[in-house]
Amino acid sequence: CGIVGIVGKSGVSERLFGGLKRLEYRGYDSAGICTITGDGFDRRRAEGKLENLARELAAHPLGGDIGIAHTRWATHGAPTVGNAHPHIVGPVALVHNGIIENFKPLRDEMIAQGRTIESETDTEVVGHLVAREVESGKSPQDAVAAVLPLLQGAFAIAFLFRDDPDLVIAARMGAPLTVGYGDGENYLGSDAIAVAPWTQRIAYLDEGDWAIVRRESIEIFDRENRPVEREIVESGASS
Ligand code: GLU
Repeated sequence: CGIVGIVGKSGVSERLFGGLKRLEYRGYDSAGICTITGDGFDRRRAEGKLENLARELAAHPLGGDIGIAHTRWATHGAPTVGNAHPHIVGPVALVHNGIIENFKPLRDEMIAQGRTIESETDTEVVGHLVAREVESGKSPQDAVAAVLPLLQGAFAIAFLFRDDPDLVIAARMGAPLTVGYGDGENYLGSDAIAVAPWTQRIAYLDEGDWAIVRRESIEIFDRENRPVEREIVESGASS
């Protein structure tokens, strides 16, 4: 399973698909890509092999210069299209690898507040938690900072915000995640191979880190929300 993200200068869906291809070796049972276009979020998902997602994309091309992509290895909920990531919850879209151990009480809380859960995943509730903060007026950054401490488990996660097409926020807690530095665009990947054709300049997030990725900047914070520097290294990964 894997995560790829591009905050880019030009169309991203083909490149995101290429990133998923390079993460195929990790195993998966379904996959999906979400971008932001002039009309808000747009998304394609498919069960099974990436070829099925490729067919979806060929039949219904996906526009947008920013997006997140995911290969899923189902832990909660069958490997169906409806459970495939990215999940979209109002102004937030997200992808997640790993497990949110305490998703049940969080989900019950969301349902009690009148929110409708669409999938069987442990992931979707995280989207509701962040969406609730954004809808109450918080910035995406403050929303994510408020929600991350509520989550237990081992995971990597990436968010897209409908109203800011220059922003991906990603967090690492027990699952690897790297950020890649490009020229007028920046990247996110489960590993260096995911982003290798686009950049060799990467930084590995530390345990508990989260990152604000924009076209012209990447800011990294630790689990106490302090800004931190993580060394930029030459990945040497070949694509
Ligand atoms: N636990 C999540 C799910 O079942 C993510 C699985 C994964 O690591 O891909 O949807």
